Formats: sequence, structure tokens, C-alpha cells
Amino acid sequence: MNPFSFKILHKSKRSQARVGRLITPHGVIDTPNFVAVGTNGTIKALDNRAVEEIGLQLMFCNTYHLLLQPGTPVVKQAGGLHDFINRKLPIITDSGGFQVFSLAYGSVASELKSQGTKKTEQAVLKINEEGVTFRSYRDGRKILLTPESSVQAQKDLGADIIIPFDELPPFHIADQELEKALERTHRWEKRSIEEHLKSPQGQAMYAVIHGGIDDRLRAKSCATLAEMPFDGFSIGGSLGKTKQQMVDMLKSLTPRIPQEKPTHLLGIGDLASIEQCIPLGIDTFDSSYPTRAARHGMLLSRKGHLKINKGENRTDFGSIDPECNCSTCRSFSRAYLHHLFKAREMTYMSLATLHNLSYIIDLMQRYRQAILDDQI
Ligand SMILES: [Zn+2]
Repeated sequence: MNPFSFKILHKSKRSQARVGRLITPHGVIDTPNFVAVGTNGTIKALDNRAVEEIGLQLMFCNTYHLLLQPGTPVVKQAGGLHDFINRKLPIITDSGGFQVFSLAYGSVASELKSQGTKKTEQAVLKINEEGVTFRSYRDGRKILLTPESSVQAQKDLGADIIIPFDELPPFHIADQELEKALERTHRWEKRSIEEHLKSPQGQAMYAVIHGGIDDRLRAKSCATLAEMPFDGFSIGGSLGKTKQQMVDMLKSLTPRIPQEKPTHLLGIGDLASIEQCIPLGIDTFDSSYPTRAARHGMLLSRKGHLKINKGENRTDFGSIDPECNCSTCRSFSRAYLHHLFKAREMTYMSLATLHNLSYIIDLMQRYRQAILDDQI
């Protein structure tokens, strides 16, 4: 029996928003929900005991990074990622595809800025039907990542939800090239699910829908992948240059995704996007946004974003957000956090990260309630 399941508890009368429950071997994820990014098996500045205490139900780890350091065989020897990092709750890993193609082409953001750099171009040695050969930035060794080897790496890691190997074409690509890349991605995803199903190990695999901001290609990708036995869907590839392009694409795409399956939006989790995408039926979002913002002095609150370095916080002895019940808000003032930030104390990073994550976990709970009340 598949230990993974998704139950929809309530569909909003006002939109495609729904409240659901993902069941995995390591516990339940209430949806919609936020997925924090712990690239190397840790949320930066917080240890995994603290992360569990604040109730983060799903954590995203990156196969590419864990493959290079400490190496997935080490994690396997430790008994898998859950044992290695001491996390009892669910984990999702990606395929490494996003990172190796970002090495080749630069991320969409860097492509828009600079068209990539020479150094990163040299890191990818070969891209062909078999997979991608790249050079480790750590020790220079050559690594071939294929759909099969990516799935095997994710088997070693043992995450609850895994992602098939896909091609991330550059943002500025001719339509014909994009369609070719899409077809290869579909072949790679098929190889990935076949490799996965040889020994499912209680893991679920989500398809990655591609097609850039071309509605026709997105529809084609969705229809092709819906024919394969994936447990859920994620939306990847280029999501456009602006938030509006992304939202327009999602408005056309999400009604085509089989409604009984969970849908994840890859790499997006800023508050404005979450607000716009929940009514479109997105169930989970992963992003390093709240944790990175915290480290850069941007704290979330019900009254908007708070810049902790601002002089007005120097003698403000109230908490970041009086309605927040996190241990940072219960224990420390804005003035103290302002002081720690200015003094560049590492403690600031932990306290701020803990607050921002707690805030967004609570925000998602409020969204679920609003859907249950048919307000969204
Ligand atoms: Zn707080």
C-alpha cells in the first residue's frame, strides 16, 4: 500500500483554493503550507530541533548540495537524511537539475542581469540525452547526473517526497528550442518515475510541469505528465520575468492539473505570491525568502515588513509583532534585536530566523482557516 496520500478536506466556494492534508511516512502536512529551504540539511541559523518545535511540517533539502557534500553515500550510511539531520517530520528533496542547469545558464535572475559568467559556463561539461556532466565546485571531480542517478541519490537521502530530473532551459530561449527541451524533460521524467517505481521505499514522486510562460506548452506538459503515475505535481521551469506573468500562466495552468493530486510551486514563497497563488489551488510553496530576509534584517509582522536596522528600533522595547507567539517575540525586544544586528552577533540570525519562520507558519494556518470559512 502506498503510504503517501492526499485528502482534500474543503474546497472554497470562492476560488480554487482548498484545504487538504498530505500524509507521508514521517507525518502529516496540512495544506496550503509553506516549505522552508534547508539546502544542506539545516535551515540556516537554526538547528533541526528548534525547527520541529516551531512546527515546520515540510522541509526542502537540495540533492545537488548533499551530493557534493557530504556525499549521498554518507547520508545513506547514517540511515538516511531523517536520521542524519535528526528530523522526524517530512522532507522533500529536488533532483539537482535546477542547480546544474543554473550552472550552465545562470539563474533566470542572473541571466536577466548579466547573461551568466565564464566561471559557471566551465562548470558544465556536457549536456546530452543521457544527462548532464559537470565539475564539482568543491574538488573539481567530474559528475554525471542522469534521471537514474538523481533518483538513486534521492533514494539514498530517503526524503518523503522526491522530484524527477528535469531540464531547466534558459529564460531567453526560442520557442522551438523550448519545445525540444520540454520533450527531453518529459523523457527524463519518464525515466525518473520508472527508476523510482523499481523500489518506491515509501517515497512519493511529484512531476515537474514545464513550458515557461507559454500556455500551450504548459498545457501540453501537464497532459503528458498526467499520463504517468506521479503522486503529485510541481510547477517548475521559467515562471516569467514578473509576478504578473507567473500569475497569468498559473491561472491558465492550474485548472488543468488533476484536482485530486497535490500541487507544489517550486521556489516561490514571498508573501505577495502566496496570497495570489493560494486562490489558484497551489497547495505548497518552497522558498528561502523568509529565512534569507531575516538574516538581512527584514522581519515579518502583521503590520508589514520591519527593517530592524532602522534607528526607530533602537529604543523600542516592544516585541517584533505583539500577536506573534514565537519564543523570540516572547523573550526579546526590537531594541535588543536591533542592537544584536548592529553588533553583527550570530544570535541575531537565529532569533530573527525563528521569528520569520514562525510568522509564516502561523500565516499559513490563518490562510487555511480563511479557506475553510470561504473567505478566499
Ligand atoms: Zn515572533
